[in-house]
Amino acid sequence: MTDQIKKLLAYQAADAAVDEAEKKVKTSKARKTANLMKQRYELAVEERKKLIASRDEAETLVASMAAEIDKLASLADVDRAKDAPEDVDALKKLLAEIDKISQNLKKAEDKLNQINSLVAANEKKINEYAAVANKAKEEFNANKAEYEEIYAQAKPEIDALAAEREKVKADVDKTLLAKYLSLKKNKITPTAPLTNSRCGGCHMEMPAFAVSNATKNGYCECENCGRIIYVE
Ligand SMILES: [Zn+2]
Repeated sequence: MTDQIKKLLAYQAADAAVDEAEKKVKTSKARKTANLMKQRYELAVEERKKLIASRDEAETLVASMAAEIDKLASLADVDRAKDAPEDVDALKKLLAEIDKISQNLKKAEDKLNQINSLVAANEKKINEYAAVANKAKEEFNANKAEYEEIYAQAKPEIDALAAEREKVKADVDKTLLAKYLSLKKNKITPTAPLTNSRCGGCHMEMPAFAVSNATKNGYCECENCGRIIYVE
């Protein structure tokens, strides 16, 4: 193994130590719960908004239905108040009209009752979602505080490890370092040993020239996964 690779691997180890320390904080139960509660809160607020919109729509409908009912009721009243016509046909016609208006009135009232009970059920749900949102917010705040405490406790260690990483970084060959950082950014483990002429990462067989390059320079790049392949 060349000195250049040794330095790169030392940097990789220091880098992994920082990642590990950060991971402990990031994967803490408090952070996960805080994230979950944030999602729950947002969902409840969103659902509640939708319900309020549909309640407002229903209330507009109720208002227009109520106006319609008033109109029908006053029509029926006016007709009843009239003196009954003496003509039998006219009387039958009037009675039929009153009957029809009364039927429409009944239908409208039934529909209004239906809508009103839907509005009441909706109102109940709106309150339930408000309670869910409030509770989620409370739990979010509690877990956020806990997470911040965990982070504050871990921070000195993370900072020390990061400082150590910076120290080791200075010794790494610039080309290799750039390659390493770019691979890591793409979530690829940046290095792997050359193992029986294969990439130790993806196990792809390396072409002869690549193996010979690796032997000569201490490393080569895997054409398949892009890793820095080093000779042990
Ligand atoms: Zn590979």
